[in-house]
Amino acid sequence: MTGVLNGAFETIGFDALDGRRLLLHRLQPRSGVNELGPVLMIAGTSVRAGIFSPPLPRTLPRMLSDEGYDVWLLDWRASIDLPATDFTLDDAAVYDHPAAVATICAVTKRDRIKAIVHCQGSTSFMMSIVSGLLPQVSTVVSNSVALHPHVPKLMWVKMPLAMAALRPFVTELNAQWGLHAPGAVPKLLNFAMRAVHHECNNSVCKMSSFMYGTGFPTLWRHENLTDATHEWLKGEVAQAPMSFFLQIQESIEAGELVSSDRHRDVLPATFTSKPPQTDARFAFVTGERNATFLPSGMAKTFEFFDAYEHGRHSFRVLPDYGHLDVFLGKNAATEVFPMIIDELGKD
Ligand SMILES: [Zn+2]
Repeated sequence: MTGVLNGAFETIGFDALDGRRLLLHRLQPRSGVNELGPVLMIAGTSVRAGIFSPPLPRTLPRMLSDEGYDVWLLDWRASIDLPATDFTLDDAAVYDHPAAVATICAVTKRDRIKAIVHCQGSTSFMMSIVSGLLPQVSTVVSNSVALHPHVPKLMWVKMPLAMAALRPFVTELNAQWGLHAPGAVPKLLNFAMRAVHHECNNSVCKMSSFMYGTGFPTLWRHENLTDATHEWLKGEVAQAPMSFFLQIQESIEAGELVSSDRHRDVLPATFTSKPPQTDARFAFVTGERNATFLPSGMAKTFEFFDAYEHGRHSFRVLPDYGHLDVFLGKNAATEVFPMIIDELGKD
């Protein structure tokens, strides 16, 4: 657990449905009340649950808690605070998210919960919920990408080349290689990153841009971060396994999420071939200047849901925001979080 999560959070260990040990972090309410019920927040890959708590005066978990929500952050199997594993998004969809939701419902004695999901926390959660594995979830705010990962054109060239070149030699990519590169391939990537990226002096920021796209930077807009948050990110981004990158590459090529062959008994090959098996309301959100996943993908997922229940779900593009700065931005507490809280309250 990070220093940022410190004593304000109670950490609860639980087992995923395959027995893997995961962590939930429950924010202790300042007011002593959390009558609006539980909200589960799920981050992407290469980070930890604490990514939602940057060094800013007002964070989304705290604002939700002050509003009256019972806030839970999840370290799923992608978390850099848990032992590294060759996971796929399906593993999280089948084993992690159903267990996390069941644990929260059991502890809080509630039968309905809400969720805020980001990036690969969102893709894996969407796989799970449209397959009928999360019947307790009533409202979902999904940021950046959901069922349709659309990426900038240059990634269509870069990603297959990178996968073909790297897969025989490494089991993961790691943004910390920007600081410490153990072995020949990490050193080579570090060298390439330094040759291409000159946008800032944070080697982890630059390596994460190299890993996740073609932006300068890719995962956030520098203009939206405080210097303290930019520096803090140096310790917050690390590894993701090649098994994950392979699945997301196949999904990008298909234009929508595809399951790997690990869970064909539970998950469909693709997730839009039949109506979503959920009664949840969805608010899809993304940054207009998202350099990781294009807003066109989120629009497509919204259209999929809207076709089944016209007018119930929402889709918003946030001007001047990128990918993760939706949660980390210096002005997000006034420009983004009130909208998320409003969306959560619509049911
Ligand atoms: Zn940077």
